[in-house]
Formats: sequence, C-alpha cells, structure tokens
Amino acid sequence: MEKTMSSQAKPPLVAGNWKMHLTAEEAKRLASQVVKAGLEMPEAEIVLIPPFSLLGAVRKVVCDSPVQLGAQNMHWEDKGAFTGEVSPPHLADAGCRYVVLGHSERRQLFGETDAGVNKKIKAALRHELTPIFCLGETLPEREGGRTMSRVGGQLEAGLEGLEGKKVGAIVIAYEPVWAIGTGKTATPAQAQEVHAFIRERIKEKYGNEVSPCAIILYGGSVKPDNAFSLFREKDIDGFLVGGASLEAVSFIQITKEAIRAHKEKT
Ligand code: PEP
Repeated sequence: MEKTMSSQAKPPLVAGNWKMHLTAEEAKRLASQVVKAGLEMPEAEIVLIPPFSLLGAVRKVVCDSPVQLGAQNMHWEDKGAFTGEVSPPHLADAGCRYVVLGHSERRQLFGETDAGVNKKIKAALRHELTPIFCLGETLPEREGGRTMSRVGGQLEAGLEGLEGKKVGAIVIAYEPVWAIGTGKTATPAQAQEVHAFIRERIKEKYGNEVSPCAIILYGGSVKPDNAFSLFREKDIDGFLVGGASLEAVSFIQITKEAIRAHKEKT
C-alpha cells in the first residue's frame, strides 16, 4: 500500500458515499450503471460506499470490474462484544478496499472523537484497508477564523503515532461541515487553501517524500457543474461525493469532469 507516485500522477479518486440510502435493488441498479461507465473511464479510481447491509449485493456487481468497494465506518477492534459494530476484518472479508473514517456526521451525531478516529485509522491500515480520513471545520469555526486550527488539530490527532510511510497510504478528505448536504460548496480557492495547508502540514511533519503522495479529496456538495473548477486546483486529487452519488448520471458526470480537469493539470 505504500505510495511512491505523486498524487497528481495518480488517477483522480472519486468516491460515492451513499450514506443511509437505497434498497438492495436500487443499489444494484446504480452500481451496474457505474460499473458500465467505469469501464470506459479507466483514468479514474471509482469507489462505491454503500451502507453495510448492501456491501454484499454491491460487491457482486463490482467484483469483476475496476470499481472499488468501501464502507462508511468501522470499529477499531478486530472482534468482541460490541453489539451493532462492524470490524476491520468484517470489511476486508466483505471485499472492501476503502473505509470512510471520521465523517462529520459520525463526529457530530454519534460523538466520534479525534482519538477514536486515530484508533480506527491504525486498525484500517493493519488490515490493508485504505482509510478515507475526513476532517473539516464548521461554519462558526470558519467565520471565527479558526479553519486552519481546526483542520490542523484534526489532522494531527488523527495521524498521531503513525510513521510517514503509513501516512502516505491514507486518503484524506477535506469536507467543510457547512458544505455537506447543504448545496453550499467551498469555492475552488477556499478548498485549495485548505488542501495546500494540509499538504504543507504533512510535509512539515513527515517530509518531502510523503507530502506530494498524499491524496487529498474535497467533499461538500460536489456536483457536475462545480467538479471541473474544483478539480483544476493544484492540491485537489479527487472527490468524496454524497447526494450527487445517488444518481448514476450526476456521479458519472462528476467523474468525467475530474478526469478532464486532471488531464489539464498533468
Ligand atoms: C459527504 O457525505 O461526504 C458529502 C460530501 O455529502 P454531499 O456531497 O451531499 O455534500
């Protein structure tokens, strides 16, 4: 899992977080449409992230395709008396390559802490699952000029105790909380400013070799009409898409826009 290529040399990563949506039939239909389109877009790494109960159904659809499977959360322990939880080995066994950790909905609605996210990131890496480590500021934090201190704090706490080569294997998703599911997107300049800050922080702590390799996604009301201008920014390597990933047409179009912008950048 160690990364050796710079993030710009890597394919754009576009991940669809389906949250708590879709029936099995709807999920299979959507996954089939994405797989069909994905076969014609080998330039992108596409990840579908259904609810736990739909992982098996979606796995059957994506298994012989380049489309990857991810989960929305997990516990940090391998097994035990944790009713209602799902472990890293469960996810690996279910065919997941990615796992979203520290999503703002988990942090805000389910009390997830930076320390818990750090344990989950370490557990994911132990099981060869790539964490999609989410961080981002709330609106009061942005308006109070505390964006960088909030994001910097989450980054440091989430990566605590990890060595550089492990950090290079993590996908980071900058998701301003005020932009998630609200239709308000960060401007390309706002997103780039935070992405550059994250990359710089990684460089300061883990060195020049790790920071260009770090894949940093943007998430927060990404749509077909803003994907190109966001992706054109230097430090945006992909997207974590919520609402717009529930429709094949919009998710596929976002992926196409990312590929188009990536070609312009490289
Ligand atoms: C998300 O859930 O991670 C997300 C970015 O959602 P949306 O695209 O709907 O804002």
